[in-house]
Amino acid sequence: MSGIYIHIPFCKQACHYCDFHFSTNMKYKEDMVAALCEEIRLRKNEYIKTTVETIYFGGGTPSVLELPQINQIIDAVCQHYQVAENPEITLEANPDDLTTEKLAQLNDSPVNRLSIGVQSFFEEDLKLMNRAHNAQEALACIVQAQTYFDNISIDLIYGIPDMTADRWRENIYKAIELKIPHISSYALTV
Ligand code: SF4
Repeated sequence: MSGIYIHIPFCKQACHYCDFHFSTNMKYKEDMVAALCEEIRLRKNEYIKTTVETIYFGGGTPSVLELPQINQIIDAVCQHYQVAENPEITLEANPDDLTTEKLAQLNDSPVNRLSIGVQSFFEEDLKLMNRAHNAQEALACIVQAQTYFDNISIDLIYGIPDMTADRWRENIYKAIELKIPHISSYALTV
């Protein structure tokens, strides 16, 4: 079994703590997608004896891609690799990108799992980290996403300055209350 990770190096704005590779300049998004598809083609022989069971779009913020761009990349993988019949295809998404329209589009695409960068349900934490979404969007996007997707994971960050154990617990309780099947929690690393 193999999994392919595809890094989408674009973000709407820079979170203060982030050291991932990304740009807030979207000018080269189309070129980047074309380059990724070319790299997928060039590296096809590396996976000749294995079946791809998972495709993971990480970032950066893959949800800034338009649906045709997401499909173009998935098509490139399917064209050049041996892909399982029902691969798990995850898209990392930020709450501010998950409009009803975007969710409906994703629901019609081969993407079947969302990993949502919630990070915290508290406004003060989101502001401190310079996230592009607010607490209301964090909550609303999950409720909306659940009308389309069963397989959802959310990211939550702990160790934020001034975050008490009670506030962290409330974040976890909120995720459990929302019946999120998978939670990824990370310590804040500047
Ligand atoms: S959205 Fe993710 S990748 Fe982009 S700046 Fe924020 S933490 Fe970094």
